[in-house]
Amino acid sequence: MIYDGHTRTCGLIGNPVEHTMSPLIQNFMAEETGKNMVYVPFHVQQGDLEAAVKGAYALNLLGCNVTVPYKSDVLEYLVDIDPLAKRIGAVNTLVRVEGGYKGYNTDMPGLYRAMVHDGVDITGKKVVILGAGGVARAVAVMLYDKGAEGVILFNRTPEKAQQIADEVNGFAGADFAKAYALEDYADVLKEEKYIVIQATSVGMHPGVEKVIIAEDAFYDKIEVGYDLIFNPANTRFMQLVSSHGGRAYNGAKMLVYQGVIAFELWNNVSISRKVAEGCIRQMEEARK
Ligand code: NAP
Repeated sequence: MIYDGHTRTCGLIGNPVEHTMSPLIQNFMAEETGKNMVYVPFHVQQGDLEAAVKGAYALNLLGCNVTVPYKSDVLEYLVDIDPLAKRIGAVNTLVRVEGGYKGYNTDMPGLYRAMVHDGVDITGKKVVILGAGGVARAVAVMLYDKGAEGVILFNRTPEKAQQIADEVNGFAGADFAKAYALEDYADVLKEEKYIVIQATSVGMHPGVEKVIIAEDAFYDKIEVGYDLIFNPANTRFMQLVSSHGGRAYNGAKMLVYQGVIAFELWNNVSISRKVAEGCIRQMEEARK
């Protein structure tokens, strides 16, 4: 790509940003689609978020991604917020509009597109979520939004799972989400098979030998297991799902698709499955 006077800039606002794969994914899509766009990371210091968002607008940036620790803090500096992002309470994509930026959450639509890519249909299903952090909460909202029948949350600290269930039930209806302590899984999971989304940080590099639930009986219940971790590529959770006959996926596709959806919002284009697969390959190559 040759950059010139017409090149549009997008970037990543976060702290830290040095480990990010987003420039690789975004610049690959720009190249593949022939868009005159460049994507760079911006390390924004604590206390400088408002100045960064205003500065990005003043510098005519087309858009930004927002990562840890600013996904919620950024809400107050936006001129508009997409309803799904509002409900999730976190924004990871800023799109330039008149007078400032509109915030979107593409993480969860990204997970949904990854599931569609993998042929996983959550419609009318009760889906299990392990964890009750920010990501688990967003997953529960997305599953409601996309037509799951319900979610069952398990967490080490059950009060946190209950808090998510209460919030989601507040708009979804009384019984959509149910919350339990991790160790209660055997009493709760009465159906034959489940889609399970592993949304804790357990098993992430460098603690790769760890797994949130170790008992074999749990893995007999898993038809599809998503570990939202992408480093390592094959977590212990995924190994256990596979060895018990389930389909196992990591969080790499979710990461790629959140970027794909952001690119589509910025450039008003549709990214093909072939280009998305190219992004996944780029990421896998970079991590070797
Ligand atoms: P978070 O808010 O810090 O929540 C962490 C969760 O992990 C909590 O439920 C916590 O339980 C649980 N946990 C941590 N250590 C545990 C342990 N030793 N035993 C049992 N439970 C434990 O994190 P988050 O922001 O929701 O992110 C969760 C994970 O999602 C991240 O680690 C990351 O791998 C993944 N992620 C993936 C993508 C992607 O694009 N693929 C994007 C963002 C995040 P307690 O409530 O009991 O503390």
